[in-house]
Amino acid sequence: MKDIYNFDIIIVGAGVIGIAIARACAQKNKSVLLIEKNLQFGEGISSRNSEVIHAGIYYPENSLKAKFCRDGMERLYRYCYEKRISIKQTGKLIVQTSAKDEDKLLEIYNLGKKNGCNELRLLNTQEIKKFETEISAVNAIWSPKTGIFDSHSFMKSLLDDFEKEDGIVVFNHNLGKIVKKGRFFEFTIDSTTILKTKTLINCCGLHATKFLESIEDFPKSLIKKTSFCKGTYFGYQGKIPFNHHIYPIPNKAGLGIHFTQDLNENGQFGPDTEWINSEDYAVDFNRVKNAHIQIKKYWPNCDITKIRPVYSGIRPKIGSKVNFEKDFIIQTEHHHNFSGLINLIGIESPGLTASLSIANEIVRNYVED
Ligand SMILES: Cc1cc2nc3c(=O)[nH]c(=O)nc-3n(C[C@H](O)[C@H](O)[C@H](O)COP(=O)(O)OP(=O)(O)OC[C@H]3O[C@@H](n4cnc5c(N)ncnc54)[C@H](O)[C@@H]3O)c2cc1C
Repeated sequence: MKDIYNFDIIIVGAGVIGIAIARACAQKNKSVLLIEKNLQFGEGISSRNSEVIHAGIYYPENSLKAKFCRDGMERLYRYCYEKRISIKQTGKLIVQTSAKDEDKLLEIYNLGKKNGCNELRLLNTQEIKKFETEISAVNAIWSPKTGIFDSHSFMKSLLDDFEKEDGIVVFNHNLGKIVKKGRFFEFTIDSTTILKTKTLINCCGLHATKFLESIEDFPKSLIKKTSFCKGTYFGYQGKIPFNHHIYPIPNKAGLGIHFTQDLNENGQFGPDTEWINSEDYAVDFNRVKNAHIQIKKYWPNCDITKIRPVYSGIRPKIGSKVNFEKDFIIQTEHHHNFSGLINLIGIESPGLTASLSIANEIVRNYVED
């Protein structure tokens, strides 16, 4: 005889997105279960990133990224100040290092303005020097609202909020096959327990598309391919002379090898971009050479012998390396005909910044009062 537990909402994946949504649902007086395959929360993409609070500059106008990043940034600052989570509004410079890239910089500036970043300013070489003496750049965009925060404490605090609302989180559980019976999703998490819910929210990060394979009868044609784009970060064994984040003009798959100042007045460079076939976080010393070439474009005094690869993260790119989705994907019944199933797919950067806004949207639109 198996025990049967019925929840209003079951959320799979305790990264920042799953935790933020679980908290928002529990605050609506729903019975919510959050299930994670690892032993702890936030061990996936959410702990292998830059921890930058983005201001919402780069994203296509009217995209989900643009909408959730800007709103998420405001919510994140408010939340962290209220809860006394370490946070710093460092500001950032997006630097144009080659004269031929002026149009690209202006394009980013204009896009940022369209996305509501009215605080952006264009700087010339002399003005840049007032911010950072060792930067070599022709022009730059100054983004004063960009920041850095302690994302682990943020997730921990959201999880505490969730548990205070009687939300339940279980770790170390992989789900078996999921079956849709009438209006309910039904599945086992161990040999003695059956779980039932009308609303199943898939927040499986890198494995969000793979997760769909475990739902019986979910149309295979609707399961998109996830490609992994790894990013290696680099430490510097010496003093880095910057007081703000420094970003080059973005490339196709990432934001370029940038400098992010951390909360301890140190910092790191990265991430770079490398397409890989499996979830492999090992760092490779051979990547230092290219990192040095990129960093030297804005910091000519950078010494290659002081650069070390330190950790890596993986971006979930939906599609292939030559053709991938540019925006977050939120799939609902409207897309796949499975009532009650919500998939959050391709939640790469700026997912940390956007998390509270995404959670708000999910609850507002898809969770009944
Ligand atoms: C290199 C890099 C740098 C980034 N930098 C920034 C930044 O500076 N600022 C910013 O705003 N954003 C940044 N991001 C984006 C941000 O980190 C992500 O958008 C966010 O962390 C995604 O969270 P998630 O919850 O979707 O995924 P995850 O954190 O990966 O969580 C998914 C969880 O689901 C679990 N899971 C998977 N399958 C199952 C299953 N079958 N059963 C149970 N559990 C399962 C996993 O174990 C994992 O814990 C960066 C991303 C990368 C890759």
